Amino acid sequence: MDKDIFQNIIALIDDLSEKQRDLVRKALDGGDDLERLISIIENPLATKRECFYCKSENVKKWGVSHGLQRFRCFDCGKTFNALTGSPLARLRKKNRWMEMALALREGLSVRKTSTQCEVSVSTAFRWRHRFLKAAAADKPVKLDGIAEADETYILESFKGQRKLPRPARKRGGKAKKRGLSREQIPVLIVRDRNGVVIDAVLRDQSKDSIKSVLSGKLCKDNILCIDGGKALWGFVNEENIPFKLIPPGKHVHEKNPIFHIQNVNGYHQRLKSWLARFHGVSTKYLANYLGWRRIYEKPKAILTQTAWIQVAMGIPNQQLMRT
Ligand SMILES: [Zn+2]
Repeated sequence: MDKDIFQNIIALIDDLSEKQRDLVRKALDGGDDLERLISIIENPLATKRECFYCKSENVKKWGVSHGLQRFRCFDCGKTFNALTGSPLARLRKKNRWMEMALALREGLSVRKTSTQCEVSVSTAFRWRHRFLKAAAADKPVKLDGIAEADETYILESFKGQRKLPRPARKRGGKAKKRGLSREQIPVLIVRDRNGVVIDAVLRDQSKDSIKSVLSGKLCKDNILCIDGGKALWGFVNEENIPFKLIPPGKHVHEKNPIFHIQNVNGYHQRLKSWLARFHGVSTKYLANYLGWRRIYEKPKAILTQTAWIQVAMGIPNQQLMRT
């Protein structure tokens, strides 16, 4: 930390109230996880208290349940708490959630997550996907300036499903056929030069499936660098998005090297080598892993446990969206 900022912090200690001093002590000791968690979870309702169902502000405190303040709406009569409607609603063992946030921040395997959070492996797995659900869905609404788009393919896995549509492969495994086949799931990554990423598991390799992901997110002010695959090419033409074709296998535009798809290809590589640690991810959950990676790429300094809890609750985090 910058020396001047540190000196300022020391100078500010004099002005702390006794309660604030206690909170600082707790934060320095690692704090009381549950207390920290509850204050993160309840912060949005503390700032703006309105009914989850009808948005009325005519709400009153209505007891405490599972550690969370409950509210009752006097317009629609329903009760709710800060987690109502979020993927984390009704998950138990809140005192372990800060550890779960840490496990996501560090990208831990399910087994290591289970150890870190002191929960069973099956709970760790269930938590992972509850915590990632909102992250997977919360995609940037637009990309700025030059952007790069390219598809990659992830080996299909039926891990976690009881009835396999084909005989099991050993851990991770290899596709039976080389190259593209039905075992390879197409994944689209589009990334602008600010590092903002849109990812998606594609239904198929058609122009329409690209359109369902990107329509409205790019405009005439963008220049999309693509490698000439049929689906992307069809999309930019139909939507009149300015584009630059990067020759296959070249990664860089021949006349103007500012146009390239090196960033997005680098992203593909990082994604794939990172996925390897999970020994084959189930296709059903692939979108969650894409969301996890998208957030995992943010600078660690802003990707705190607090930020992860907010992401899991589906609270938009301005800092995370910008960087
Ligand atoms: Zn209401």
